[in-house]
Amino acid sequence: MASIFTKIVNGDIPSYKIAEDENYYAFLDINPLAKGHTLVIPKKEVDYIFDIGEELYKGLFAFARKVAPAIEKVIPCKRIGLTVIGLEVPHAHIHLIPINSIYDMDFKQPKLKLEDTEFKAIAESIRKAYAG
Ligand code: 5GP
Repeated sequence: MASIFTKIVNGDIPSYKIAEDENYYAFLDINPLAKGHTLVIPKKEVDYIFDIGEELYKGLFAFARKVAPAIEKVIPCKRIGLTVIGLEVPHAHIHLIPINSIYDMDFKQPKLKLEDTEFKAIAESIRKAYAG
């Protein structure tokens, strides 16, 4: 069965898209630790990030490297933190999280509850920053 993220890539489940190319897709995390919390995935469904083939793996990080500055332009923060967990969704993904302190990367922190309109506004701003 297709993963939730494959359904998102295929448009079967909606997402707040940030960027995409032939092999990768970036979209807002639905339970964000911070505004602009973004997931970057390969379109190809592979569960564990270290099982991804070398070229696709390198390309995933190269794609995240292009997305991070766009988030940083829109969301005031000290840095964009990057982490990989993957215990919940079996489709490899990188978390990009705007942070001001190490605690902002703590997944035990309560998640933000954002309205649909706010998700849309954030995604649109980051999309525009990404497009340059
Ligand atoms: P992990 O697998 O890295 O432990 O966590 C999966 C992440 O995916 C979580 O931060 C969770 O909020 C996010 N997530 C789970 N399901 C969905 C979904 O359907 N849409 C979006 N945009 N994010 C999701």
